[in-house]
Amino acid sequence: MYGPVPSANTLKNTEYANRFFVYEVEGLRQNEATDQVESPIRKSGSVFITVPYNRMNQEMQRITRMGGKIKSIKPLNGNNHSDQAGTTAEQGKDKKAAMSETKAKAKAKSDVPVNIYKPKNPLIGKCVGNQELVKEGGIGRVRHLTFDVSDSDLWYLEGQSIGIIPPGENEKGKPHKLRLYSIASTRHGDQGDDNTVSLCVRELVYQHPETNETIYGVCSSYLCNLDEGADVTITGPVGKEMLLPEDPNATIIMMATGTGIAPYRAYLRRMFQEKHEDYKFNGFAWLIFGVPYQQNILYKEDLEKMQQEFPDNFRLTYALSREQKTADGKKMYIQNRVAEQVSEIWELLQKENTHTYICGLKGMEDGIDEALSAEAEKHGANWSDFQKSMKKAGRWHVETY
Ligand code: FAD
Repeated sequence: MYGPVPSANTLKNTEYANRFFVYEVEGLRQNEATDQVESPIRKSGSVFITVPYNRMNQEMQRITRMGGKIKSIKPLNGNNHSDQAGTTAEQGKDKKAAMSETKAKAKAKSDVPVNIYKPKNPLIGKCVGNQELVKEGGIGRVRHLTFDVSDSDLWYLEGQSIGIIPPGENEKGKPHKLRLYSIASTRHGDQGDDNTVSLCVRELVYQHPETNETIYGVCSSYLCNLDEGADVTITGPVGKEMLLPEDPNATIIMMATGTGIAPYRAYLRRMFQEKHEDYKFNGFAWLIFGVPYQQNILYKEDLEKMQQEFPDNFRLTYALSREQKTADGKKMYIQNRVAEQVSEIWELLQKENTHTYICGLKGMEDGIDEALSAEAEKHGANWSDFQKSMKKAGRWHVETY
C-alpha cells in the first residue's frame, strides 16, 4: 500500500503531509498485514507499520478491520523528517498530526467513545451542509446538517448522539445548556473520510399555551437556520443505548417517528452503502417509519433505493398518519403498523440475534407495547417479562425525546 520510507534527501524536500509515523500493532494476521504493507517489521508478536501522516486514519481503520490493536504510535525518526520546523504553519500542522495520533490511540484503546468533548472544553466544528428534508406540502422543517470535525479528536459510532450548545443566554442570563441530537451519519461521516458528523434536526415551533405567541425552540431553530461556514459548538459523543450489534447476520427491527430516523440512517448506510472488511451485513433489517405525509418521509429516495437494491435484506414499511387509514378507518400510526404485522414481529423477536430499536417521539412505545402484549398473550407469554429479558440481553433499545 505504501512505498518504502523515503531517503533523507527526498524527505528534505517533502511537505508536512509526507511525515511518517510508526504504528506498533498486535494481533494482525501475518498474511493480511503483509499483503497490504510492503515492509512491516515483526518483533515479539508486534508488527511495526510505517504510515504517512495523510493515511493515518485509513490505516488505523484497516488495522481494526483486521482485528489488530494499535499499541503505540511514534513519529518516525523523532518526528522530524522536515527541516522546516518552527514556523506557525508547521506548528498548526503539528497540532493536527498530534490530534490524529491521539484519535488513533483513543480508538485503539476504547470500544465506545464517550464525552471526548465536554461542555467546559467543547469542540468547535464548522457547518458544511444544511439541507431541507421535508418536501413541499409536508409539515414543518427538518434539516440534514453536516459539520466538519476534521481538526479534532472526535470519533463516534452509529447510534450515538452529540451535544450542541447554542450561542447566547437563557432567560436567567446563563449560557444556554447543550441539547442532544442523534448522529445521522456512520462513523465514517457522509463523505467517508472520517472528517464529518451529520444530524437530522426538526425545528421546534409551537404556540404558547397562554399568549398564543409563536415560539421557536432555541437550539433547533439555531441549527435549522445555520449558515454553511458557520462555527458550531459540539460536545460528546454520548450514548450506548442505540449501538448496532457487530453480528452481520442479526435481525434489526427499527421503529421511528420523524427525526427518530437519524440513527437508522447511519445503520442503513453502514449495512448497505458503505463497504467494510469486517462488517458485511447479511441479516434482515426492517424499518417501520411513521410520519404525517409522504412529503415528510425523511431520506425517502435513499431508503427506497436501498430497499430496491437489497429486497431480501431490507424491508421498508411506512405509517403515514394523515394519508393512510387502518382497516377500521382510523389514522395509521406506527403502532397500528406494528399491530398489523405483529405475528411476524413476534416470531422475529424469538430469535436470539434480533435487536429492536425504538427512536423518536416520547410516548410512541405505549402503542407498540400494547400490540406486542396482545400477541404475547396469544402465545401464553407475558410481554412485560419478555421485554425485560430482551432488555437484559441488550436486544431492546429505546431512545425517545
Ligand atoms: P427549547 O427552546 O429547549 O424548547 C423546548 C421546550 O419548549 C420544552 O422543554 C417545553 O417546555 C416547551 N415546548 C415544546 N413544545 C411545546 C408545546 N407544544 N407547547 C408548549 N410548550 C412546548 N431532536 C431532533 O430534532 N433530532 C434528533 O435527532 C434528536 N435527537 C435527540 C436525542 C436525544 C438522546 C435527546 C434527549 C433528544 C434529541 N432531540 C432530537 C431533541 C433535542 O435535544 C431538543 O430537545 C429539541 O431540538 C428542542 O430543543 P430546542 O432548544 O429547540 O427547544
